[in-house]
Amino acid sequence: MPLVHALTFDVEEYFQVSAFERVVSRLRWDEYPSRVGPFVEKILDILAEHGVSATFFVLGWIAKKYPKLIRLIHSMGHEIGSHSMEHRLVYDLSPGEFREDLRQSLKLLEDHTGERVTVFRAPSFSITSRSLWAIEILAEEGITCDASIYPIVHDRYGIPDARLEPHRIRTDSGIIWEFPGTALSWMGLRLPLGGGGYLRLYPLWLTRRLFQRVIRQQRPIMMYVHPWELDPDQPRIGGISPVSRFRHYVNLATTEKKLRALLRAFSWGSLRESLASWQSQGVDPDDVVPMSTLARG
Ligand SMILES: [Zn+2]
Repeated sequence: MPLVHALTFDVEEYFQVSAFERVVSRLRWDEYPSRVGPFVEKILDILAEHGVSATFFVLGWIAKKYPKLIRLIHSMGHEIGSHSMEHRLVYDLSPGEFREDLRQSLKLLEDHTGERVTVFRAPSFSITSRSLWAIEILAEEGITCDASIYPIVHDRYGIPDARLEPHRIRTDSGIIWEFPGTALSWMGLRLPLGGGGYLRLYPLWLTRRLFQRVIRQQRPIMMYVHPWELDPDQPRIGGISPVSRFRHYVNLATTEKKLRALLRAFSWGSLRESLASWQSQGVDPDDVVPMSTLARG
């Protein structure tokens, strides 16, 4: 089986991102003009055109408000995962609060789709060395694949020495897959690529070249895109730092073109399809990372 790369979307509004948390109160989310629906539909059209299925990590708040949208994504054969209820960073929650939030979001998504939800991505990759306890809770609550660890240095997320390729973690409640954000080792640094601001920032030729390097290392890429990244005309949020402004708004008008080009150039599927293809390349069945060694990171 050829290597299939993981195509993922985090379904949330432009005003729900972590960078705006301090200026956009959750209590006022209802007051902002919604734009998520048409851009999810646009993504679904693009995927249908390219005959690709993907994983959609849906925010519970969105699923509650737009159940038809979630049913539409599911009816088109895509995998549905949880992106938490209200985009709270995992390391800001207690283990009990995290579990409660996860249970609520899984129940909501399962009610809408009639299927078990077994994949999860934390808001802003917020499983870090401070919140590794979340892995155990994910396994206990029936998640079999997590995509919340970014093996890089970043001010808001990242475990700088975490493994670069998908791997299994042994918890007291069983084995869970971790499918990390994609990065390349480069001159002693780790260069993130393949999603969000990195995808918008790098020119297309560079992303292609970096993807080819990852493929030469025989590991699958994980692309992640938000509906708001295809929406250059979204209302601008004031009162944020220059860094946040740059990260959120840089090259929004290039996302759609880049997404289409990359869909044509590489082979994509859902998280589950990507993992299956990667396992078929001959992954060592004994290569399972114990929680205790992760916690060192
Ligand atoms: Zn998010």
